[in-house]
Amino acid sequence: MNKTLRKAVIAGNWKMNKNRKEAQALITELKPLVKDATCDVVICVPFTNLETALRETEGTNIKVGAENVHFAASGAYTGEISADMLTEMGVEYVIIGHSERRQYFGETDETVNLRTKAALEAGMTVILCVGEMLADRENGITEELVALQTKVALKDVTKEQLSRVIIAYEPVWAIGTGKTATADQAQEVCAVIRNVIANVYDKEAADAMTIQYGGSMNAGNAEELLSKPDVDGGLIGGAALKAQDFSVIVKAATNG
Ligand code: PEP
Repeated sequence: MNKTLRKAVIAGNWKMNKNRKEAQALITELKPLVKDATCDVVICVPFTNLETALRETEGTNIKVGAENVHFAASGAYTGEISADMLTEMGVEYVIIGHSERRQYFGETDETVNLRTKAALEAGMTVILCVGEMLADRENGITEELVALQTKVALKDVTKEQLSRVIIAYEPVWAIGTGKTATADQAQEVCAVIRNVIANVYDKEAADAMTIQYGGSMNAGNAEELLSKPDVDGGLIGGAALKAQDFSVIVKAATNG
């Protein structure tokens, strides 16, 4: 697979961390460290930090994303945020279907699909998370499960819209556990995902699809993971909270 056909993207997922002051400090430290990045750099931050992040990254190469979005345009959905609310602020990216949302907040493949379509219709770029639980891997169904999650999430997404989708392969057993998938395991599943895209859309779409690995990627293991032909970037949790570590991962990723 030719990596020059697609963009390398390193995205941080801050999860429920950092107050405004801490967010400002982290971004201030990060800016000079990633200013010469040859990949796209995104930070996905809690809703309460979006305004700070947008202000602090203005005129830089760092893009800002949210960590979730609702599928309705507006209405009686207490506590939720719509895609238009995000785009009105200038937020371009959004993580959808993170395993923590699936595990703790009842997210299903169907709601992931609804959220994905809503975000794409609003013009956003979606970081779509898929990945197996440890039991799925042990039962030997990783490939089928991830293929299924990918297909359902992208149901009725057009090829044009697909150009604004990044898929993050995140084995749930590797998220926040310090247990990283081996580079070969990451490559294997990222290749399966690319194959799904080729089958559902076409080879051109598959070649252009940015597929990230996520799950305890850090300054020490990023280079090996990112050297794999189908691993085009990373979705980074813990290591995104430290500017130095995040910037080492950014440097390990090169744009196609
Ligand atoms: C994540 O939250 O998407 C993630 C990959 O977390 P961590 O890097 O901490 O495993």
